[in-house]
Amino acid sequence: MTRFAEMPIDQLRDELAAQQETYAGFKARGLALNMARGKPTSDQLDLSMPMLGLVTSAADCFSEDGTDCRNYGVLDGLPEAKRLMACLLDDEPANVIVFGNSSLTAMYDALARCLDFGCLGSAPWCACDAVKWICPVPGYDRHFAITQAFGIEMIPVEMNEDGPDMDEVERLAASDARVKGIWCVPKYSNPGGVTYSDEVVRRLASMECAAEDFRIFWDNAYAVHHLHDEASEQDQLLDIARACAEAGNPHRYLKFASTSKVTIPGAGVAAMAASPENIAEAKSHLTVQMIGHDKLNQLRHVKFLRDGDGIAAHMALHAAILRPKFALVARKLEEGLGEAGVARWTSPRGGYFVSFDGPEHTAARIVALAREAGVVMTGAGATWPYGRDPHDSNIRIAPTLPPAEELEEAMDVFVCCVKIAALEQLIAQAE
Ligand code: PLP
Repeated sequence: MTRFAEMPIDQLRDELAAQQETYAGFKARGLALNMARGKPTSDQLDLSMPMLGLVTSAADCFSEDGTDCRNYGVLDGLPEAKRLMACLLDDEPANVIVFGNSSLTAMYDALARCLDFGCLGSAPWCACDAVKWICPVPGYDRHFAITQAFGIEMIPVEMNEDGPDMDEVERLAASDARVKGIWCVPKYSNPGGVTYSDEVVRRLASMECAAEDFRIFWDNAYAVHHLHDEASEQDQLLDIARACAEAGNPHRYLKFASTSKVTIPGAGVAAMAASPENIAEAKSHLTVQMIGHDKLNQLRHVKFLRDGDGIAAHMALHAAILRPKFALVARKLEEGLGEAGVARWTSPRGGYFVSFDGPEHTAARIVALAREAGVVMTGAGATWPYGRDPHDSNIRIAPTLPPAEELEEAMDVFVCCVKIAALEQLIAQAE
């Protein structure tokens, strides 16, 4: 196949007709496939079923310090649960608060506390005439939904292969005291699969911020979600806590993680790690909000996963299920679009997504075509604040949920839709 851009108009038209015929064939099959959300597939959920049987008798309900976990209390988590979650957060158990099942809720609440009460003595952010937030793009739509819900002005900053464009992040943070924070998914980012380089982590930790209470929301959702077992094929991330301490900004970060994609998303455990002062402040507000989270679930997780090695062994089972799916996506994209020269995509070594960029101004068309043929993708624009991708080019591919044979079909449809949208555009430009 020649590159589309080099094809004469007649050949473009012939190619479009051929793709439209293929597309009609897909439509006739009445497909109902979904590549929209980063959910584990049922085989992955099955891996954690033994966990549900680990706390069944009254005797199972006691923690190592003798707490009866059926009862009220223990605001910040059982000692053994803090130790377990400290492995995910790469931190000390003393700096950890264990929450309920959702890290997203923990982030929402942390941001609400900043807005309502300020941070370590600073003025509540809601007293500012505006609050602004740095949003690396493409990014996670639910992060952007949180900042949008609080009326925070979101400023997109391009992601590079080693993290956000730090020149721009530094410029924004230094230039305006209303720029209060940044969303970061520092390892196997959603959706690009990018892991921040040591230099990016150090620059974030040490950059000059006009706001003394600037906060990095460090959402390490994919900390242990490697696709490969060999250490040489796994990304490593510098610890933001250490970098911030070394830079003399020990309170700048809030780390988040959960077991949503380790055990069971609907019934996992989430946690936050931060400086002792930030943790104490968060606890002073939490104590008003609640008496204690689900400690039986904390116990189940500790009994099932045990420690860092236990987590790694369990994640290797996930990787064995996910690796072929990511390989399939890479193969389909390469075979279908490699020579057409109209798109680029990421090849992550972990996480849950592939980030795809089609020609400018085609993403919405591609997603609409796919939907019409029975393949649901994440909405075009979702990876940008306010759902507005100014290039209309980025699409998040989520290959985890569909079984392999459905994924294969869905990718065939997707590739066909990309070709149609790209050809339509080239023909319109040539006419
Ligand atoms: N953070 C990121 C970057 C995610 O991709 C996801 C889920 O896709 C979440 C958080 C959700 O986390 P939780 O289930 O702990 O709320």
